[in-house]
Order: sequence, then structure tokens, then C-alpha cells
Amino acid sequence: MSEEILVVENLVAGAGEKMILNGLSFSVRAGESVAIMGPNGSGKSTLANVLMGHPGYEVHSGKIIFRGKDITNAKPEERAAAGLFLAFQEPREIAGLELFPFLFDAYKSINTARGEEAGSVFVFKKKLDEELEALGITANWSERHLNQDFSGGEKKKSELLQLALASPALAVLDEIDSGLDVDALAVAGSAISRLKEKGASIIAITHYQQAMKYIKPDRVLVMQQGAIAASGGPELALRLETEGFANLGVTSQKP
Ligand code: ADP
Ligand code: MG
Repeated sequence: MSEEILVVENLVAGAGEKMILNGLSFSVRAGESVAIMGPNGSGKSTLANVLMGHPGYEVHSGKIIFRGKDITNAKPEERAAAGLFLAFQEPREIAGLELFPFLFDAYKSINTARGEEAGSVFVFKKKLDEELEALGITANWSERHLNQDFSGGEKKKSELLQLALASPALAVLDEIDSGLDVDALAVAGSAISRLKEKGASIIAITHYQQAMKYIKPDRVLVMQQGAIAASGGPELALRLETEGFANLGVTSQKP
């Protein structure tokens, strides 16, 4: 059995007064892809944010071990440098931040953090063009500002582009499938497959069983009220689709 890349132990976390994660534990093995499902408000996005070190959330107790190191209190940029990546459920629009310099700076920082050469603009441009083509993105995208006036689907592709360029060891994808049409879903699926072929681990948070066809998870976890309520193979996602969360004893939580 391959080693664990991520171990989350008894995580208790929240925002301000609100407790959201209530003693959550799970682990992900190297090269494994795990789907996390769960009703609205069960804390899935909070988990994603806490894994990445979002400053709006506070960890009260528990541990996050990534590649053998305790990153519970690490800064987001230290986590990124260690090989963790988060694709946001709702990517922000940042006016004035042009995509090309943003992506190039991120690319150089990640390479440097890995102890590699930062990389020339020519090497980067070639890689960028390959990824743009693979994602079916028109070339003038890189002249636009980060997510500004992008459609919902374009914002998701923008996350997938950043993901491909970062080439992380563990990617956390928060509802990467939401708002995508069938064609865009297939593109997202092949981006995920290419990442897996490179040996990366994936945590894919999703609502929809249909997305399983593209994510092809090895394991499915179900969250309820800030903890893991059920786990199983891909067949668990199918059961959720037909029986709903309630029949697994998993119910929707009030905000
Ligand atoms: P999910 O992604 O599973 O739908 P979230 O993690 O977004 O769930 O939210 C879980 C609960 O925590 C919800 O009730 C939500 O309103 C609340 N919540 C999330 N983030 C914050 C925050 N920054 N401040 C206060 N409450 C929050
Ligand atoms: Mg969410």
C-alpha cells in the first residue's frame, strides 16, 4: 500500500464564533483520488479552505499532516510550496491582475520553492500554450484580468489552468464541476486524468454523482455536520444519487 500524503486528525475548526468542522478525520494515499460529497452546509468548502490555510478560519484542535509534515499552522504560501493546491468553489475576480504575469509569477515561485530553476518566459509560454489548448481556451485569455467578466464555466477553466501549471502533489477541487456544461465537464475530466497520470493525489468535492464519471474516484467520503459520516467505494456515490443523503442517515444542515 502506498504511503499517505495527507492525514487529517480530529480537526475542529470554525469561523469566528461558528464551529464548522467537528472532529473530522480522514487520510489520502499518494496517487489516490477521493471524492467528498455531502449536503449543503456540511462544511465541505470550509474543509478545503482550512486545508489550504485560509486566514478566515481558525483551527481549534486537531492536526493536518501533509507529506509527513505538520502544516496545521503553516501559511497558505508554505502549503502551496509544499505541493498543495486549492481550486476554489467561487473563484474571485481580481481587476487589474493580468493573467499572464500572474500565472508566470506563480509558476516561477512554485519552481523556486521546489528547488528548481525559476524557468524562462519562453519555457513558460510554451507550457501555457499547451495547457490553454488542452483546456480549449482561446489564446487572448492571458491578456485578460484574473476571472474578471469570466462566465462561471470560464472561471472553472481558469482554476484548471492554474492547477495544470502548478502541477501539485495534492489538488483539492471544490465543486470544479458546478456550472460546467457536458463538453466543459469532459475537458475538466481530462485535466484531472492528466494530473493523476503525473502521480498526483486528488480530493474532489462535488454534489453530483454524474461527476464521478470524470473524477473516477478510488474512494468516496460523505460529510455531515463537519465530520465524515460515511465512506465507501464509487458505488456509494451511486447510492447517494438514488437514495439521497437522508437515507444514509445524512441530512441537510441549516445554515
Ligand atoms: P458546504 O461547502 O458543505 O456547502 P460550507 O463549508 O461552505 O459548506 O459551510 C458550512 C457552514 O459554515 C454553513 O452553515 C456556512 O454558512 C458556515 N460558514 C462557512 N464559512 C463561514 C464563515 N467564513 N463565517 C461564518 N460561517 C461560515
Ligand atoms: Mg461548498
